[in-house]
Amino acid sequence: MLEIKCPYCGKRSQNEFSYGGDATIKRPKLGEEISTEDWDNFVYYRDNPRGKHSELWHHVSGCRQWFKVSRDTATHEIFDTCKMNEDFNV
Ligand SMILES: [Zn+2]
Repeated sequence: MLEIKCPYCGKRSQNEFSYGGDATIKRPKLGEEISTEDWDNFVYYRDNPRGKHSELWHHVSGCRQWFKVSRDTATHEIFDTCKMNEDFNV
């Protein structure tokens, strides 16, 4: 079981959290022309990286805040967590 450090609450058990996807995906700007292929890539297609990855997590059973986690997808080591408007320290 992982221990995840919520930037608002501190370290908690993984079962309080829900994975929210890749934190590097950027939504196209509103009103901007975008091709069908670019829209499909934004909505449906994701990389499946092995190694260090930036992810979104939701503290569902706690403060209910979304935040970012830098985690190794192979070893599950967590390098850092931060609020949505912050950058990782590591
Ligand atoms: Zn929290």
